Amino acid sequence: MDNLLEFNREQLTKYIEQFGHKPYRAKQLLRWIYYFNENNFGAMTDVAKSFQSTLTNNANIKTPEIISDELSLDGTRKWLLNVGASNGIEAVFIPEEDRGTLCISSQVGCALECTFCSTGRQGFNRNLTSGEIIGQLWLANKLIRKQKNYSHLNLEKRIISNVVMMGMGEPLTNYKNVVHSLEMMLDDQVYGLSRRKVTLSTSGLVPAMDKLRIDCPVALAVSLHAPNNNLRDEIVPINKKYPLKDLMSACLRYIEFAPRDFVTFEYVMLKGVNDSIAQAKELIGLVKDVPCKFNLIPFNSFPKSGYKCSDKSTMAKFKEVLADEGIITTIRKTRGDDIAAACGQLAGQVQDKTKRSQKISFVRNN
Ligand code: SAH
Ligand code: SF4
Repeated sequence: MDNLLEFNREQLTKYIEQFGHKPYRAKQLLRWIYYFNENNFGAMTDVAKSFQSTLTNNANIKTPEIISDELSLDGTRKWLLNVGASNGIEAVFIPEEDRGTLCISSQVGCALECTFCSTGRQGFNRNLTSGEIIGQLWLANKLIRKQKNYSHLNLEKRIISNVVMMGMGEPLTNYKNVVHSLEMMLDDQVYGLSRRKVTLSTSGLVPAMDKLRIDCPVALAVSLHAPNNNLRDEIVPINKKYPLKDLMSACLRYIEFAPRDFVTFEYVMLKGVNDSIAQAKELIGLVKDVPCKFNLIPFNSFPKSGYKCSDKSTMAKFKEVLADEGIITTIRKTRGDDIAAACGQLAGQVQDKTKRSQKISFVRNN
């Protein structure tokens, strides 16, 4: 069986042509799959019977299976999804007044070993396919539509208005499948999201950032977390390969093509590690040439992380130093904390090919 979620519009058109069906039927099919969220070909009422049976015999619409589905007190909803071989990934929906944001995963685990990240500590297992990435959107859309208590969101419109690639994994190390999925999110006949509302977060893979700005420039968030190479080498080890000077230049190059005229820098607040006033000032020097906004992320703890989140007052002071320089800075609201759905808490269960998880035991902290 061929999973249709793996195919973009061109591929789907070719796929049905090989069975002798006309290209216009691809458009009809896309509408059923992505607009009506239908996965039963027999229920696609205005689709010719012969086409329905071709599809039923050869294809399916297969998403990762749900292991758990949790709803937080603040409306955040988190799914733990099975992608086979006892591997779990997570997707999180965050409803707000004027938008619904879905945070999705791009890999099972992550190879980059940032010291404060529970995904990084779990090691890397594999890349998700584009069908598994798009499958998270498809599934979330379907389930959220059934949920009644999002009445403040206009259900006639898109429930998921924004997508952030901030779940498990480093999206730019799964480049091909991620770009394929991004293109589907932007395609009018698939999800039709605006480039400005699709954000890719990266720990700073410079060559891939340069490629992305040409292939599929969406909004960009860069995980900075430190104001100098010494500290960044330690907590975001990929910095040893792509140090800050190169990263800043790559951000500037990206902005030329980006749908927004700034980069968002994410900065996780680690008590006594990267949260001093001196470090805030150093940060200002570092980003002085890059149009940017800052998003300070309160560190979300997980067992044996070895870090603590900065105090509220420290975070407020840090923010003030940046804001005084005219840098728009927000402190991210922690959402879904009661269901461990916050950044870096997306623990899942990963069969670690690197066997790192044998050294550190991971217990979900909810
Ligand atoms: N790999 C990508 C995207 C996934 S992580 C990246 O690193 O950007 C999404 C964001 O969550 C990143 O900014 C990451 O640094 C942050 N994060 C990771 N662990 C965290 C934790 N324990 N608490 C708060 N934020 C965390
Ligand atoms: Fe990977 Fe991002 Fe976690 Fe670093 S912060 S280990 S890049 S998922």
